[in-house]
Amino acid sequence: MSLRIARCPGCAAVLPAVGGMLPRFWPWGKKRQKCPNCGRQVPLSDGRIMGDSFSYWAGQLQSQLGASCRELPVLTKARALAALQPGLAADHVRLVPGLESLKHYVAQLCRQALCDQAHGREATVQVVSLTNPEHEASVGILARSSVESGEKEREALVARIGQNRFIIYTPSPPTGRVSVALHAQRGLPADHGSTSIATPA
Ligand SMILES: [Zn+2]
Repeated sequence: MSLRIARCPGCAAVLPAVGGMLPRFWPWGKKRQKCPNCGRQVPLSDGRIMGDSFSYWAGQLQSQLGASCRELPVLTKARALAALQPGLAADHVRLVPGLESLKHYVAQLCRQALCDQAHGREATVQVVSLTNPEHEASVGILARSSVESGEKEREALVARIGQNRFIIYTPSPPTGRVSVALHAQRGLPADHGSTSIATPA
């Protein structure tokens, strides 16, 4: 779908579509939409730029996530829970039916960092394949927002329990497991200070 989605530059919420032919007859100054989330009045052109930029970064995350999750083996629910975290109870995870729903859900989780990336701020969203000591596979996601928006970290872990069924665990605060795996992947010690790698196209 190539429909251009406009988003609020402040909070990245999708702005309501401008209906019919109305904008053509509006004076330029009135081409604004109210953000349904934060109430900000957004010039339509700014909303479209934000929409394009956010889509680009969300697309980067979603294609990486899709590639990693398609590789995941199907596990029993018990083994999948153990892959996410030893001793994890089933009511601490969310069942997500379908890869597309999973991608959407993860983009929502990482929204602040994606919003920062869309503004050109230094934020990262990274995806890494993980295995636990029993060699059961999961996928980790780590989003870190920019200094301007509080440098918050969000971690998510995904395991597969059916051909098109996933479970996701979003520990708060982060366990640090994804961060450690990302450092190991790059051959750096786990306590290395900086994780500010850019995510090139
Ligand atoms: Zn907003």
